[in-house]
Amino acid sequence: MPFPLPPGSTIGILGGGQLGRMLALSAARLGLDVVILTPDEGSPASRVSRETIVAAYDDPDALARLAALADVVTYEFENVPAATVETLNRLGVPTAPGPLALAVAQDRVEEKTFLNAANAPTVAFAPIDSAADIEAALPRVGLPALLKTRREGYDGKGQAWIRDASEAAGALTSVGGVASILEARAAFVRELSIIAARGRDGQTAFYPLSENVHEGGVLRTTYAPAKVTPALQAEAERIAGEVLGRLDYVGVMGIELFDLGDGTLLVNEIAPRVHNTGHWTQDGCEVDQFEQHIRAVAGWPLGDTTPAVSVEMTNLLGDEVLDWAALAADPAARLHLYGKGEPRPGRKMGHVNRVKRL
Ligand code: AMP
Repeated sequence: MPFPLPPGSTIGILGGGQLGRMLALSAARLGLDVVILTPDEGSPASRVSRETIVAAYDDPDALARLAALADVVTYEFENVPAATVETLNRLGVPTAPGPLALAVAQDRVEEKTFLNAANAPTVAFAPIDSAADIEAALPRVGLPALLKTRREGYDGKGQAWIRDASEAAGALTSVGGVASILEARAAFVRELSIIAARGRDGQTAFYPLSENVHEGGVLRTTYAPAKVTPALQAEAERIAGEVLGRLDYVGVMGIELFDLGDGTLLVNEIAPRVHNTGHWTQDGCEVDQFEQHIRAVAGWPLGDTTPAVSVEMTNLLGDEVLDWAALAADPAARLHLYGKGEPRPGRKMGHVNRVKRL
């Protein structure tokens, strides 16, 4: 399929959550259709898309149908099975981002190894398969140290702090005894992230850094643009440029950073997709992260990332969404709801962007 994809083309999205929904809304605005593949009936994304295939991500018939419908396939989450991407590529559909970005982002040891080779600094770390590995790594990694599963951890799940060498075996049991990584503690003063994009022609675009506050491992609030020096913004863009270039990346990426307060940024993790800490761009920037991702994937020129206002983005978790009427009445609040039925505790139901003139 020749890029740029003309309006009327179809973008396939693996995953039907709120990120897929906001991608689909942006695609629609550019005259592009979206087909969703998700195992869930009635997903947030399917409610605003042309068609939904409800099936497992490795269902061969479903992938054949998606390949027949879509001109390019992207994803809204990084734990897509590698075999799914291989199958789609074999069926002749390009995927963006490519398999390398997925492989790197799915395994914390691969990720940190890749990042260090790409001149993107991280905390010291060691791969862990046993309690003995932890004891052997502690002299180098130091105490306290954080044990995380290598794969499939998110929002702080599958993690255990180790404050003393005697806690090694218990920590490994508590994360499920699976292949893990031991990380040195990052003595950060705040958590930042940068949303970055790379187009099919290698063009890059960077949004201003945002400052992110987590509660119980879940993002609560993003402040953007973060109050940072031009040098810190430049360092974040240097890191992001290295990462995107070496992955020959196409699309938007979220890069979570620890600000050590002395000009040093360490990369915590990379998300090969649009990112919760980039939701502020919807009401803050000329072109938001969702349209930017669609532009990149479709081979269009990247859009302008200049901020027009400053934004405080707050996630609406669980029951907080029940305040929708009051939020809708607040002229300073821009309300984004995901069309999810049941406000289970902690579930991301929507977000609010509060804008202020710069
Ligand atoms: P993660 O699931 O890797 O994004 O980690 C969730 C949160 O745990 C991060 O946003 C940080 O607040 C904290 N965290 C993760 N890794 C480290 C580390 N090596 N040192 C200190 N805090 C960390």
